[in-house]
Amino acid sequence: AKALGKGIVVKFDPSMRADFERRGRLEIDLKLALKNGDIFPFYQPQVDIDTGKLVGFEALARWNHPELGWIGPYEFIPIAETSSQIVELGRCILTTACIEAMAFPDDVRVSVNLSVGQMLRDDVIGMVTDILASTGFPAERLTLEVTESVMMSEPELAARILNGLKELGISIALDDFGTGYSALSYLRQFDWDELKIDKSFVDDLGHDPRCLSIIESVVDLATELGMKVVAEGVETADQHEILRKSGCHIAQGYLFGRPQPIDQVHVTLLKSLAP
Ligand code: C2E
Ligand code: CA
Ligand code: CA
Ligand code: CA
Repeated sequence: AKALGKGIVVKFDPSMRADFERRGRLEIDLKLALKNGDIFPFYQPQVDIDTGKLVGFEALARWNHPELGWIGPYEFIPIAETSSQIVELGRCILTTACIEAMAFPDDVRVSVNLSVGQMLRDDVIGMVTDILASTGFPAERLTLEVTESVMMSEPELAARILNGLKELGISIALDDFGTGYSALSYLRQFDWDELKIDKSFVDDLGHDPRCLSIIESVVDLATELGMKVVAEGVETADQHEILRKSGCHIAQGYLFGRPQPIDQVHVTLLKSLAP
């Protein structure tokens, strides 16, 4: 028992240091990446759950880093949020999505994620108005997806902003429903156009009867409230069938297509037009 008193050992895990360094580097590189167009949307198909017909795409951000390769949004969105580059990132993804979706058929919509930080920190209504004007993309074909966390910190402000966006003609989706606290009060605070059932619920569908009951009730409730219900993360034909029977309207997941780059989207669109 030697060296009592100076025996405090701080365990040092080299992988923690690597994570820390990578994060620091990404935070620095983010600014240039946004300027250089290294961050852009992939598009994941959304289909009518009954007919399988393509109804739209969700734009999902990807970073093609010149040295580190592809980086996913779970890694860089939180960095963008804390370093306040989320406003620029959001502007960048929305602009590109609107430009690229101009080439989609008239009945194909596009959904874009809006982060809490972006929504409460910036003049989002002004930004969206400008982007719609400069790209010419019709507001009626755009959906913005927000998670319930927007309603948590400043519910009145959030509802005011969301109503302003709706007045532009845009649809608003409540994303990731079923995670977090999912208080039913969020369904009351705003007239959502769409409800997205989180993948974690869809995952458990086949083997958890309680999960099925919850989904059926949520679908009924949302439908009653005039919302379209989208199921996220549909991977199997079984899940598809169960969700279809539950009355879900739209499905999104690997079963119907992964997020894909814009040139692949054009191939998907050609196929969807084929007889
Ligand atoms: P999200 O909005 O819930 O998007 C759905 C996520 O599930 C996507 O992950 C998508 O690739 C993935 N996914 C879809 N279908 C399946 C499936 O069948 N199986 C599995 N295993 N995964 C599936 P992704 O693209 O990694 O995005 C992660 C999250 O990052 C998104 O979750 C969203 O919250 C955020 N995000 C992505 N792009 C943006 C953006 O442009 N702005 C903001 N603010 N957030 C974004
Ligand atoms: Ca989303
Ligand atoms: Ca989700
Ligand atoms: Ca039903």
